[in-house]
Amino acid sequence: MAGRGVSRERKDAYTVLVKIADTPPCPQCTGSTMLLAQFAHAWENGRGEDVSGRRETVLCPGCHHKEPTAAELIALFAAHAQVRPESMDIFGGLVAAWVESVRQHTVDEEALAAEFELWEQGEL
Ligand SMILES: [Zn+2]
Repeated sequence: MAGRGVSRERKDAYTVLVKIADTPPCPQCTGSTMLLAQFAHAWENGRGEDVSGRRETVLCPGCHHKEPTAAELIALFAAHAQVRPESMDIFGGLVAAWVESVRQHTVDEEALAAEFELWEQGEL
């Protein structure tokens, strides 16, 4: 058992592909979405092995406007019909923050399970 090998995926974990045109409909409300982000997602399976894959998430103005990072992105889109080169830095930062929040969201349960395990073993 080689411990928790998360460092291997670290670099790839920050590569986010963003699609602005022809985004798929929202899986929750079937409304139109503003962008699609595809990012690396790594987790540890039940046998303690590292598994990595890519996940996709869409930004839906109807479903995500209550999430702070998503709301900022939605506001940016509302202000600019098209993302211009000069707002690319802001846009990139907002997308990164948003993807990070989505990622936190999804690993929450696993992190919780891992903490519970440690707690049971008396390490917390
Ligand atoms: Zn939606």
